[in-house]
Amino acid sequence: MFQKIYKTIKKYNTIVIARHIGVDPDALASQLALKESILLTFPKKKVYAVGNGSVKFSYLGKLDKLEEVDNFLLIVLDTPDKKRIDFKQFENAKEIIKIDHHPFIESFGGIEYIDDKASSTSEILMELFYETKLKCNTNIAKTLYCGLVSDSNRFLFDNSTPKTFSLVSHYLKHYPFVLSDLYKQMYLRPLKEVRLEGYISLNLDVSEYGVASILLTDEVINKYKADSASAGNMINDFNYIEEVLIWVIVTEDVKNDNIRINIRSRGPKINKVAEKYNGGGHSMASGARVHTFEEAKDLIDDLNEVARQYIKKEESYED
Ligand code: AMP
Repeated sequence: MFQKIYKTIKKYNTIVIARHIGVDPDALASQLALKESILLTFPKKKVYAVGNGSVKFSYLGKLDKLEEVDNFLLIVLDTPDKKRIDFKQFENAKEIIKIDHHPFIESFGGIEYIDDKASSTSEILMELFYETKLKCNTNIAKTLYCGLVSDSNRFLFDNSTPKTFSLVSHYLKHYPFVLSDLYKQMYLRPLKEVRLEGYISLNLDVSEYGVASILLTDEVINKYKADSASAGNMINDFNYIEEVLIWVIVTEDVKNDNIRINIRSRGPKINKVAEKYNGGGHSMASGARVHTFEEAKDLIDDLNEVARQYIKKEESYED
């Protein structure tokens, strides 16, 4: 499959690389790394990495502005369903390649490489560059490492496999860079965010089934001078709390007129509940968007049911 992807890339002069809406480091890193690798291998090609960016991840590089384009190959990264692709000219693509690590939702009608056991789309690209003639350099390796570290939550999730570590080992050996320089870009944050994290810890509501939730209204976010995106991104900082099985951050996003929900689990599968509320994701890391706090409450009720069933099943194993 990797050779087929390589041959298809080789065939086209114009290539557009897209990914999901609501940019995150893995999606962006894989886009920018693939663009740089294609240009390094085939300097004459026109390659565009498209979609809305975020100042927060600007250390990874810049996206391209693209007006009208035709006769192009579209590569969609890190996106399981069409409605979440951050690129309007999807239908005009001559051919499509999808590379993703999310559980399968729908086919895009082209070449598809899906590995839902991979830690990240960045990890799949590490494998693609390793297996084909697509070239790599230190910046590409660093970018992919950033995407992988971010989506695996610093190798904390079970999808960090022996393959993940051997790919990381290969790239760090052949394209060395200073890890702490990258971590500074990824993890350095203002004190106001740490204070907001303190507010979350103090006010987290934990149900009898271990579902922890916090509602961050626009008022609270403004009080801490944070923004709604960085508030939701704190979700990964609440792992491994003894009393908590599933945790949820509900953030009012006045600018986009909706409510953003970030969900994590260390046991019960949560993606089906997320899908019911205009969302989706992985079994242990999902997200959703709703319009009212009532909907958010219904989602939390559904997560409580999922946690209750999970606990019942675990207890039956112990008997
Ligand atoms: P996040 O909490 O934003 O880091 O997202 C965790 C996972 O859920 C990622 O794989 C996202 O792509 C996915 N996800 C987040 N929000 C949504 C959404 N509204 N619809 C579908 N998938 C989502």
